[in-house]
Amino acid sequence: MGFIIGTAIGSFLGVVIVRQTTNDKRQTTKIGGRSRCDSCKKQLMWWENIPLVSFVFLKGKCRNCRSPIPYWLPLIELAGGLAGVWLASWASQTITVITFITVINFIGAGLMASALIWVFFSDLAYGLIPDLAVGVGVIGAVLSHLSNLSDLGYLSASAGAAGFILLLVIITRGRGMGTGDVTLAGLLGLWLGWPDILLAVWLAFIFGAVAGLTLIGLKLKRFGQTIPFGPFLIAGSVIAAMANDNWKTILGL
Ligand SMILES: [Zn+2]
Repeated sequence: MGFIIGTAIGSFLGVVIVRQTTNDKRQTTKIGGRSRCDSCKKQLMWWENIPLVSFVFLKGKCRNCRSPIPYWLPLIELAGGLAGVWLASWASQTITVITFITVINFIGAGLMASALIWVFFSDLAYGLIPDLAVGVGVIGAVLSHLSNLSDLGYLSASAGAAGFILLLVIITRGRGMGTGDVTLAGLLGLWLGWPDILLAVWLAFIFGAVAGLTLIGLKLKRFGQTIPFGPFLIAGSVIAAMANDNWKTILGL
């Protein structure tokens, strides 16, 4: 159940990402309405719009004009599905009694997961970190920490992470990272707190370096060309959030 709802939310976020980058004003402002092919604008039938399933039996192409469906659309649906499974199992393990606060925490975690998936694929596909997505994530992070909001650790982790990335943006004069990465780092700090945000940022730089060198090795990129950093920050944060606490004991944190 969590998987199916998750793929539907992932699919919806995919549509939001595509439309936010379309210049057509009428399309950007209108989130609702029937889904259509981005190449030939033909409206999709309901059975062409089932998350994951449709991509497989349409063999990744539009039925009308044969133009390829973006490779990341099934991935965002899959990511949504996995997030749904994770949220459902997290809820069944941690929530024993349903109270106002546990419901709010659950909604917060759902908004946070959606925001991370939204930013991840938007940055990956278009190099864009939407302020709206970061805003949704901030609301999610606040709601999921509602019972310990007085803990200033989350705020200082947020300011610390955003400040660190801002410093890098200033030093590198905006090559490589942008202001979107600053707000994203602030969001991730607010979500993870100390010391998890340290692990997250450290992993992000490792992943970024490995991916950069791999792309250069495969001659897909040259030195000096940039790759979006947001997906690495998010990947590092998800691992930091899921990791057990052994690394903290080892480092004495
Ligand atoms: Zn088409």
